[in-house]
Amino acid sequence: MVADCHTHSLFSPDGTQSAREIIETAIEKGLSHIAITDHADLMTPDNFTGVDEKNIGAYISALTALKEEYKGRIYVCVGLEVGYTPQSEQAAKALVSGRYPEYVINSVHYVRGSDCYSKGHFMGQDKLTSYGYYLDAVKQSLNCAYRYDAVGHFGYIERCSPFDDSEMTFKEFSRPITDIFRTIIERGVILEVNTSVSGAPSSSLPSEKLLKIYYDMGGRKIATSSDAHLCRDIGRNFHRIQDMLKKIGFEYLTVKQDGKFKKLKF
Ligand SMILES: [Zn+2]
Ligand SMILES: [Zn+2]
Repeated sequence: MVADCHTHSLFSPDGTQSAREIIETAIEKGLSHIAITDHADLMTPDNFTGVDEKNIGAYISALTALKEEYKGRIYVCVGLEVGYTPQSEQAAKALVSGRYPEYVINSVHYVRGSDCYSKGHFMGQDKLTSYGYYLDAVKQSLNCAYRYDAVGHFGYIERCSPFDDSEMTFKEFSRPITDIFRTIIERGVILEVNTSVSGAPSSSLPSEKLLKIYYDMGGRKIATSSDAHLCRDIGRNFHRIQDMLKKIGFEYLTVKQDGKFKKLKF
């Protein structure tokens, strides 16, 4: 295991571990790079926010202090997971306007006003409709007003999907998936490989099949990302996922260090 590029600390409403605990665990697990990427879900209907304009200063100073303290032992990347919505774009832009956060994950959690991570989200919608809306939102998020370095958990809609065939397949959604991968590649950003799912319908987000398509289209920037909210989940499933990535052809991870993308062999 080399790098975990997506973790949550107590600055996230659903976080359970301090940033220091995350870093200590990452060192124990042998990682050389750890990104702490707390939620910034601005203007959400259920007030699930995390980092916003009121506490961004405190967040950045807490993490940059730890970054200094652990220098030489592990690279602590000061990140943020911005939840994209059309109405919060400008507020998010203000939040990430400085040098820090140095790593911004752009994620879609809310589609048409409700969190895809809830069964109620799918009420009255069939698979093609609800997944179609999600893919539209991801497409829109790629052209957002703020800077970002990575696209978070692509395929998130599968996580709470009530449908028997919940996999977001290329067969059903070839057009939007192709467009999204093309944009990610052209923009030169990272497609994160989120390992917070383990098993049906996919063993990672995006799934192995979609990662293969991304690779075949020329996509090379990927980052292993546990999305851990508990220390024990840091680096979750990485050994298995790294084997899968190597089998596809990927040779390195891409992380953000000192303002630049850096390749890390795995
Ligand atoms: Zn997320
Ligand atoms: Zn997350």
